[in-house]
Amino acid sequence: MSADNNWTYCPRCHKQIESSKSIYGKVSEKEYLEFLDKPVSIEEPTLREDYELGITLDKKEGWIFYIIYMASCDCGFRFKYRHKELLPSSKVKE
Ligand SMILES: [Zn+2]
Repeated sequence: MSADNNWTYCPRCHKQIESSKSIYGKVSEKEYLEFLDKPVSIEEPTLREDYELGITLDKKEGWIFYIIYMASCDCGFRFKYRHKELLPSSKVKE
């Protein structure tokens, strides 16, 4: 079993950065500055990733491999993924 966390770049914030590049020079300076004023960080990784994975004994199913992954950013972006898989030839005998 292993649990860890990491910081990386947020896809939603990154999209906003790309949008800011594409509108530069196409909107008024006021609109552009208002757009940039939205609370996103373009320098720092803002997406916190928490994950845990490993092999464990599930009382009902037997030995399983599992992954739990969660990511969240201050901008409101959230992503969660869970997976578990029964290991071959590991069913609990009754
Ligand atoms: Zn974000």
